[in-house]
Amino acid sequence: MRRVYLDNNSTTSIDPRVAEAMMPYVKDLYGNPSNLHSFGRECAEGLAQAREQVAGFLNADVEELFFTGSGTESDNWAVKGTAYAHKDKGNHIICSPVEHGAVLESVRYLETQGFKVTWLKVDEYGRVDPEELRMAITDKTVLVTVMLANNEIGTIEPVEEIAAICRERGVCSHTDAVAAAGKLEVDVQSLGVDLLTISGHKLHAPKGIGALYVRQGTVIHPFVHGGHQERGLRAGTENVIGAVGLGRACELLKSEWREDAARVKKLRDRLEKGILDRIPEVRLNGHPELRAPNVSHFSVGYVEGEALLLNLDLEGVAVASGSACSAGEDGVSATLEAIRVPPLFRNSPVRFSFGTGNADEDVDYTLGVFEKVVARLRDISPIWKTRKNN
Ligand SMILES: *Cc1c(COP(=O)(O)O)cnc(C)c1O
Repeated sequence: MRRVYLDNNSTTSIDPRVAEAMMPYVKDLYGNPSNLHSFGRECAEGLAQAREQVAGFLNADVEELFFTGSGTESDNWAVKGTAYAHKDKGNHIICSPVEHGAVLESVRYLETQGFKVTWLKVDEYGRVDPEELRMAITDKTVLVTVMLANNEIGTIEPVEEIAAICRERGVCSHTDAVAAAGKLEVDVQSLGVDLLTISGHKLHAPKGIGALYVRQGTVIHPFVHGGHQERGLRAGTENVIGAVGLGRACELLKSEWREDAARVKKLRDRLEKGILDRIPEVRLNGHPELRAPNVSHFSVGYVEGEALLLNLDLEGVAVASGSACSAGEDGVSATLEAIRVPPLFRNSPVRFSFGTGNADEDVDYTLGVFEKVVARLRDISPIWKTRKNN
């Protein structure tokens, strides 16, 4: 059976060229980069090169780039590290309601620690309004965190405008760029943010490596204590293998992302159009244009999300039903809650997320399978029948 992987926003395959770059560090170069002997030095060099590659991709300085254990850790550190570092100034945080759980839960945690939070509203596409943000900033505001592209529905947030407002008011701005890196321009200078998160396994590097960009002059508390690594801000012997992989992936993306994104967008658009043309009662979520080029998120009326996912999987097609990492008590994700998806479409999210490994045949196969599976599930749905008889 053919297998089609359309869940690249959950994780990606490791690019063979990334694996190749990591191999010497897997096999031979095992030193601790903190050690002064040759074994340590050769690993320190690999780490330094990786930092240059990641910094180069983000248009940052190497001193502004910190390796972490994941996108989740980078988000936690950015949020808690800046909130605590600015406690003398105030205790107010501004956050969007469509953030990844790593940001949402960090902010909610701070709420239990005496911080006050303003949750911005979003429009039907999941976009925040910079003017609402401007009005929400007070003398006590210490951090604004709004992601660059939403991982579920792909909507792109006006981060440049947000960062400009924050700068004007002397407030720290963080953006989670995990779902954007490799699909959209991620340039810390043009974005103007003070902190930015990326994650290795979302861009064809391995799992367990992330990075946080911290603009020169931004005050942040350390998050992991216990050593001098990462300029004393993130202790723990460095994940050299992972960092080298992330570095190589970023180096490749720097020259390839535009072409990759354009190619993937063509595939995405064809799948999207095919579904909208062939299947009635589906709703496309996310912004029609201001959207990551690799994501297509649908709500399918009269079917149940999990059944859809499992039936697609039986046919070899891997997608996300969108509820894995961020479902609330009623099983609906915070993002779908925030964009107020109508009841009929609330329980059947399906996210297709493309990656560089996908090809034209994947689209054709998936279209065929999707049409068949939706028809089959609707056939056994009592409400679909009553709807047709009406
Ligand atoms: C996957 C993801 C994360 C978490 O990154 P991990 O490296 O898996 O911890 C954070 N934010 C967004 C938007 C993501 O898609």
